[in-house]
Amino acid sequence: MSSVTVIGTGVMGSALARALAGAGHQVTVWNRTRSRAEPLAEAGVTVADHLLDAVRGSDPVIMCVSNQAAAAELLADSALSDLLRGRTLVQMTTGTPADGRRNAAWAQPLGIGYVDAAILAYPREIGTPDAEIFYCGPAGAPETAPGLEPLLSALGTVHFVGADAGGASVVDAALIAFFYGAMAGFVQCLNLASAEGVPIPDLLALSGPFFSRFIANAVHETGERVAERRYDQPQSSLDTHLGGIDLLVLGSSREAGIDTGVVTAIRDAFARAVAGGHGAEDIAILADPP
Ligand code: NAP
Repeated sequence: MSSVTVIGTGVMGSALARALAGAGHQVTVWNRTRSRAEPLAEAGVTVADHLLDAVRGSDPVIMCVSNQAAAAELLADSALSDLLRGRTLVQMTTGTPADGRRNAAWAQPLGIGYVDAAILAYPREIGTPDAEIFYCGPAGAPETAPGLEPLLSALGTVHFVGADAGGASVVDAALIAFFYGAMAGFVQCLNLASAEGVPIPDLLALSGPFFSRFIANAVHETGERVAERRYDQPQSSLDTHLGGIDLLVLGSSREAGIDTGVVTAIRDAFARAVAGGHGAEDIAILADPP
């Protein structure tokens, strides 16, 4: 069992601290607003008054604050970076791949073992296998830091994605890009049904296999096709898809009088590919890698 510090006890940092304490680790936390950390004491977590005191007895040190600017503000204190020398800093604050690489370059000459991590989960999922955690960086490699993965496993299902300190954010950004695109489509789906008088519970009752089977299959097949750059023999050509978008989605949205901004942006991407001569190919051609 490790002594571990969590800096930042917002909703996510608090969930991390609880899960680590629940797994038997000795957890110390510090939060800028102390009162927000205090409920964690009931879970056996030590709440420190001062940041440096929180860090002194722990390795690794996990940081999970609002954003990279807040993290940089804390790490700019040389007393903290001096204290982190020889320890592992696991940065769980969301950032871009460039943030991860810049943080690793900052940590290296200071003798701080930098690990970048991305959380693909809501706080309520932390501590269950449903929480997906991606981590990376030279200091995180299982062969050089054998204790880290078992520790992070208290938080969810963990994946080491390589020595590149930007790697975890790459995976995070790519999957979250899918999430927001899908949610934008889902909003269109709900608005279309509502505008035409179909109750949402009825739509949801009819949509189970569409989400669990059709979408899952389409995602996997498209991903495999893009990886292999194989766009021939489509089940449905780009021409057919474009016709469907125009008639069924754009046409029905206009009839229902709902916003068409998202649909129009999607339609434009399909229309550009068709205009580029790809009308007979699979939808995967839209993601043709350079
Ligand atoms: P939150 O509840 O708003 O908590 C933000 C935390 O950052 C608080 O502890 C806050 O301290 C601290 N903070 C902000 N600015 C600070 C500063 N200048 N100096 C010191 N501490 C500062 O947010 P959260 O949901 O826990 O998110 C934390 C991180 O987890 C973010 O990077 C977020 O993207 C990531 N994340 C969240 C989720 C999620 O579903 N919530 C999922 C994946 C990743 P105070 O209490 O003093 O304000």
